[in-house]
Amino acid sequence: MKISLDRLNKRETDKLDLNFSQKVDTINYCDNNYKLTSPLNLKGKISNTNKGLYLDVDVDFTILDTCSRCLDDVEVPIEYSIQGFLVKEDYDEDSFEDYDAFIYHSDEVNLIDIIEQTLDFNMPIASLCSEDCKGLCHKCGANLNKEECSCNETANDEELIDPRFAKLKDLFKND
Ligand SMILES: [Zn+2]
Ligand SMILES: [Zn+2]
Repeated sequence: MKISLDRLNKRETDKLDLNFSQKVDTINYCDNNYKLTSPLNLKGKISNTNKGLYLDVDVDFTILDTCSRCLDDVEVPIEYSIQGFLVKEDYDEDSFEDYDAFIYHSDEVNLIDIIEQTLDFNMPIASLCSEDCKGLCHKCGANLNKEECSCNETANDEELIDPRFAKLKDLFKND
């Protein structure tokens, strides 16, 4: 999703309409590559303003995450909008401090880079396959949505007095 800003920078046009639905394999967030299970849709525009090039787009796509309780795959729809100025590396930070600013190189902006930079606030903190996911058994690792394990029964057994300790108790009694 590399967009040439040449025509905007040369003032040949005031506005560039963007409307994509593109297949993207993975998107990187916090050093993890998330698979996309939908096309990446992006719609909006880049306009020439008196302050510079302004990006205003809506994005949506679906990523494959893991349920934070049972570790099963879970599809997470992501939908948000991005607004901010497209600036060169040597831009004056002070004059953009009230805005988001995205750096581009030469005359091209890579929208995937911008999406990856803006994912932080739009990713779920913990994905769940369902609100009432039972998760994994802490002892045997069984997925409790799919099977019942007998760990709970064992736990109860352990609470009963070990026969060896029972004998010790008897010894103390004799003293
Ligand atoms: Zn789950
Ligand atoms: Zn178990």
